[in-house]
Amino acid sequence: MARIIVIGGGWSGCAAAVTAKKAGGDVILIEKTDMLLGLGNVGGIMRNNGRYTAAEENICLGGQELFNITDKAARHVNVNFPGHKHATLYDVTKVEPMVRRFLEEIGIKILLQKRVIDVEMDNKSIKSVVLSDDTTISGDIFIETTGSTGPMGNCLKYGNGCSMCILRCPSFGPRISISKRAGVEDILGQRGDESYGAFSGSCKLNKESLSEEIREKLNKEGVVILPIPKEDINFDKLNLKVCQQYALKDFAENIILLDTGHAKLMTPYYPLEKLRKIKGLENARYEDPYSGGKGNSIRYLSIAPRNNAMKVIGIDNLLCAGEKSGLFVGHTEAIVTGSLAGHNSVRLSLGMPLLELPRNLAIGDLIAYANEQIKTKEGLKKRYTFAGSEYFERMKEKDLYTIDKKEIKRRVQRLDLLNIYEEKLL
Ligand SMILES: Cc1cc2nc3c(=O)[nH]c(=O)nc-3n(C[C@H](O)[C@H](O)[C@H](O)COP(=O)(O)OP(=O)(O)OC[C@H]3O[C@@H](n4cnc5c(N)ncnc54)[C@H](O)[C@@H]3O)c2cc1C
Repeated sequence: MARIIVIGGGWSGCAAAVTAKKAGGDVILIEKTDMLLGLGNVGGIMRNNGRYTAAEENICLGGQELFNITDKAARHVNVNFPGHKHATLYDVTKVEPMVRRFLEEIGIKILLQKRVIDVEMDNKSIKSVVLSDDTTISGDIFIETTGSTGPMGNCLKYGNGCSMCILRCPSFGPRISISKRAGVEDILGQRGDESYGAFSGSCKLNKESLSEEIREKLNKEGVVILPIPKEDINFDKLNLKVCQQYALKDFAENIILLDTGHAKLMTPYYPLEKLRKIKGLENARYEDPYSGGKGNSIRYLSIAPRNNAMKVIGIDNLLCAGEKSGLFVGHTEAIVTGSLAGHNSVRLSLGMPLLELPRNLAIGDLIAYANEQIKTKEGLKKRYTFAGSEYFERMKEKDLYTIDKKEIKRRVQRLDLLNIYEEKLL
């Protein structure tokens, strides 16, 4: 049996672990913190705009489990908010244990609070990973899904310093780039002004700190929109934001709150004293991160070069997925790239040709398009998501966007790819 080692337990790592297990691998998932899902513990928005299509494509390919869980953990379905349609909002306070139980049930070995700090190489192959407690874990194929934050010094160099984002490095230890340790240079994403990385402006307010009226509306409808006083509107902040799909005028002119268990605040970098001037928010406080008004994590500083089958170029037995594999934003993007990497890990162990998803599926097109764009100067300044900005426009132009489940199934079936991730290869 092939031993598949997945490094990083965010959405992409969990998805890779699931499809590798289904293809017959013996899977170990290594996570440095005490929780799976990484940045997935602070998000919650699924199925908005083209993410609906991508989720349904992955389900038809046989990677349904994690989407079933996020659907089951939904607080609201079919929610519309500015620029976004038919979103599902999963409950960030409930989803992690649901995923963890599922992974354990199907026989994935999860190692929590184990941090990979190095690799042992045999020429161009990784033999084993070294953990911070000096133990080593050997494997046949490795998948890096550690996100794109790169070494922790980045938070000081390119960001606000540590604002205690969900990765909690001061408590669980710094980050490293595994692919770089294995000998491959990282690619760095850029902002519009060519400085490196990008901030996440997304954060959460403690729901209990909001007025009863806002709480009730959030619980009932999932969305609350409050106009910002004219003197406090700041359009410049939109340029800083990682999630270009939310860099719309409405998000600078209004406080947009979404109910993900906490109140997800879509208006970036909003100082607490200004927030408290707004009716119903007089007692508001940030839930995550505590320094929410300053922004969240700094990302896109550690991306591995890869092919469209998710194999890292230059290392024989390393694949990657999620933000580590491109300038992707999103849980859906992490899950679909992770699903492909996990499936391909078992193919690679058997010497089989790796699966590349065709470009007439949105997932295949996103993976290939982001890979083309990352090689260009302008492309490095963009982020790629099914949910909006450049890539969603492309989906519409190429006729890839649809929410017709039957049509999506037909497309996958026509390509002879229905349930491909269900095939046990070993
Ligand atoms: C505040 C915020 C809100 C967001 N909201 C949304 C949203 O609503 N909807 C949406 O679709 N997307 C959202 N996103 C984006 C989305 O969360 C990410 O793009 C996606 O979850 C990335 O998943 P990943 O698996 O690639 O990486 P990560 O989630 O970064 O996971 C990487 C994991 O690897 C672990 N790790 C790192 N280094 C090591 C190591 N050396 N050894 C072991 N483990 C290691 C980390 O602890 C982490 O668990 C949000 C992001 C942020 C920051």
